[in-house]
Amino acid sequence: MRSPASLEAWIGLGSNLGDREAHLRRAVERLAGLGILGRTSSLYETDPWGVPGQPPYLNAVVSLAPAAADPRAFLAQLQRIEREAGRVPGPRWGPRWGPRPLDLDLLFWGDLRLKSADLTLPHPEIPGRRFVLVPLAEVAPDLIHPDSGLIISRLLELCPDSGAVRLWGRPDRLRHPDPT
Ligand code: ADP
Ligand code: MG
Repeated sequence: MRSPASLEAWIGLGSNLGDREAHLRRAVERLAGLGILGRTSSLYETDPWGVPGQPPYLNAVVSLAPAAADPRAFLAQLQRIEREAGRVPGPRWGPRWGPRPLDLDLLFWGDLRLKSADLTLPHPEIPGRRFVLVPLAEVAPDLIHPDSGLIISRLLELCPDSGAVRLWGRPDRLRHPDPT
């Protein structure tokens, strides 16, 4: 087996339905079973992006040295965690970017660049989303975005998104097991 420490994956977490903090905490607990957890951002409360009129999101980012060798296999693991949180895939679930108990996006898989029908890396919306760039800039300001060659803090300066991203809770809220 290849060393899990050889690659850093970044995952963006979001929730805007139900007990948002519990959904994110549970997701981090499950992510810890997919590799070695690295950095964890603070929690941010953010205006919904894409489809207006939804409740606000809680968002965060974490890094992980994944046990999986293949990003598609890893994305399938993320989607399984989404489903466990009650997210129903497919048209029944409604529009893309609609409200959901848990959204897990694979932001980076090391510096891999990939475009396929079901997986694009880095996640194509990173430069346009403050709710991803603000938490990333907190824990990885110098990380290089392989599509643009720019570092995260520079992408944040250039980001045209004006959606509000408010600091909501410290990172340790995500790393402590739910007492209930
Ligand atoms: P968003 O995360 O942009 O709000 P969705 O979660 O509804 O939108 O989109 C999920 C779809 O995006 C899935 O069908 C998945 O295959 C595709 N996808 C492509 N690239 C990625 C990626 N890097 N991370 C997560 N999903 C991705
Ligand atoms: Mg998603």
